[in-house]
Amino acid sequence: MAAPKVAVVGAGVVGLSTALSVAGAFPACSLTLLAEHFSPGTTSDVAAGMLIPHAAPDTPIHVQKQWFRETFTYLFAISNSAEASEAGVHLVSGWQVFKSAPEEDLPFWSDVVLGFRTMSEAELQKFPQHRYGQAFTTLKCDCPPYLLWMEKRLKAKGVQMCTRKVASLWELHSEYDIVVNCAGLGARRLVGDQQLLPVRGQVLQVHAPWVKNFIRDGDGLTYIYPGINSVTLGGTREKESWSLCPDPGTAKGIFGRCCSLEPSLRAARDVKVKVGLRPSRGSVRLQREVWSQAGAKILVVHNYGHGSGGFSMHWGTAKEAARLVGECIALLQGSSSRAKL
Ligand code: FAD
Repeated sequence: MAAPKVAVVGAGVVGLSTALSVAGAFPACSLTLLAEHFSPGTTSDVAAGMLIPHAAPDTPIHVQKQWFRETFTYLFAISNSAEASEAGVHLVSGWQVFKSAPEEDLPFWSDVVLGFRTMSEAELQKFPQHRYGQAFTTLKCDCPPYLLWMEKRLKAKGVQMCTRKVASLWELHSEYDIVVNCAGLGARRLVGDQQLLPVRGQVLQVHAPWVKNFIRDGDGLTYIYPGINSVTLGGTREKESWSLCPDPGTAKGIFGRCCSLEPSLRAARDVKVKVGLRPSRGSVRLQREVWSQAGAKILVVHNYGHGSGGFSMHWGTAKEAARLVGECIALLQGSSSRAKL
């Protein structure tokens, strides 16, 4: 049979990494990436890009841990390569602090990040409102550079990139054999998934180059994440809010909370406010389907619903999506050899 034609829908961190994973595993495929918006217009551009997972309630922990480990290993190699600066991927050390000791002794990802340990009394003196803390080193992606770096790698592999809003995956059936749905929150409309809901997040990006360590309150709401060119201050988690308008009161609140964790931030400059809608679901949808209608068919792979953890999990889920694409290719090859008999 001719080389399978594959379309990936979505150019956020999930779509780009899935396209890279498919291109790497099946170089003979003809691969196209379609998206309504490319960087800097995606939710992935707004993210802080820290590798600290948030457990999704409906996915087994061992699966989430595997996705996180695969993502960490992949990005760790990039952070140690000559590509690190252009890709915007770097190691960052810091502290997660709690007002009282958390119920779970160790988070599931504690042996994936580097050097995870309980903070000493001396370290905790920096945080007078907190009684307990964990210190570790993790990775951070500076999001727009990372997305642009992936786009560049896809172009170098000959992947076509098209700006196109897809109204239904079915509209692609005459052009492609396999469609990979990485539309993030757009999948709610694209495939009518009512389980997929926005969780609005507002963050600030500030110039504060003296801040070198991350600080995260254990409640996950207040955080200071230093990147290569700016520091991200967060945040909010507003379920089912669709507003992309920055709220000045919320921005003031975030700044105040972050200054109480790191008082030197009062001297921060060039404050920019960003808002994004996390594509949230009980679990990431990673699934293969065959759609057929009036004798025509298209093979569909879904990879969306990463909620608060798209950066933390993207390479693990991209590898799994590529495995599902491989199953689709095997189905196509099976049906073309049956047709010849
Ligand atoms: P998106 O980035 O939204 O990309 C979706 C793509 O699909 C876009 O290209 C869009 O144009 C396209 N699309 C949608 N519908 C259609 C259609 N009909 N036709 C064609 N194209 C379509 N995660 C972490 O791991 N670490 C963090 O530190 C972190 N911080 C965050 C901070 C904030 C404030 C927010 C909002 C999120 C944060 N996240 C973080 C979560 C992370 O941003 C998401 O999990 C991730 O961006 C989801 O990526 P995605 O590719 O699925 O979606």
